[in-house]
Amino acid sequence: MSAPDRYAVIGHPVSHSRSPFIHERFAAQTSQPLIYTTIDATPEQFLATARTFFAEGGKGLNITVPHKEAALQLVDELTPRAQRAGAINTLALRRTNAAQDLSLLGDNTDGAGLARDLLNNHRVMIAGRRVLLLGAGGAARGVLAPLLGLKPSGLTIVNRNLARARELVERFRDLGHLRAVGYPDLGNEPYDLVINATAASLAGELPALPPGIVDSRSICYDMAYGREDTPFVRWAFDRGCARALMGLGMLVEQAAESFHLWRGLRPDTASVLSALTAELRG
Ligand code: NDP
Repeated sequence: MSAPDRYAVIGHPVSHSRSPFIHERFAAQTSQPLIYTTIDATPEQFLATARTFFAEGGKGLNITVPHKEAALQLVDELTPRAQRAGAINTLALRRTNAAQDLSLLGDNTDGAGLARDLLNNHRVMIAGRRVLLLGAGGAARGVLAPLLGLKPSGLTIVNRNLARARELVERFRDLGHLRAVGYPDLGNEPYDLVINATAASLAGELPALPPGIVDSRSICYDMAYGREDTPFVRWAFDRGCARALMGLGMLVEQAAESFHLWRGLRPDTASVLSALTAELRG
């Protein structure tokens, strides 16, 4: 019997990642022989570590914080959505021709994962709503095109490093009403939906948010997740927001997209999301 195919998530930090839990269940559900691990690599180690993984027979990687933009340097080919995003969260090893030459395909499944979680799992309406996106890193890049495709009335990007937010406005301005601001200039008009795509929660931090950007009708969504509420989710509850959600569903949905790219099969996400929620509460 041949050895199971190897996959992993690579990031820094990465020990908190629940991706192995999810992919093990997808594999069991669909009878796919694979193993999925975590690889911690600093920005200095990232490119060499990823190349070694594939040179030693690895079949696919998920890319997480902070490597999604650097991963562009590894690929031979990009899917249109990864090209649009300028960031990658999935790498797949492909055989390109009859000579069995190998190439690396880069994809970005974050946006599809977020859209599915918001629309299908949480029934959040985006059309016609005012949306605020916190952060301008790899995750923000991945979700902007799908979010704008859902036709919010406007989308504001706020980032500490304003130049990065402005760059995203230039990149995506053909898709909708976009603007970039710094935290001190956020103003006090409430948003309908505030999505935290910063890495602040991973460090137990909260971006410098003025209280007036939410009210009792606002929905807050943190892409980060954990056993306990993240600082952003606590902040939203403390301000009496209508809902405060964590990104577990996004994690499962984007993982299902990656699994589909790697194995050609679409796993059931609802059962895995329930198992993951129970595991985190337990
Ligand atoms: P990056 O390192 O690419 O970007 C980090 C972003 O966070 C930058 O915009 C940075 O701002 C901002 N930031 C970091 N710390 C702070 C802080 N203390 N206050 C304000 N802003 C801060 O990371 P990613 O974009 O890849 O990931 C971002 C988050 O999204 C992570 O928590 C990750 O786990 C989560 N995520 C979850 C997914 C899911 O499926 N649930 C999928 C993808 C991501 P600046 O540019 O100014 O430094």
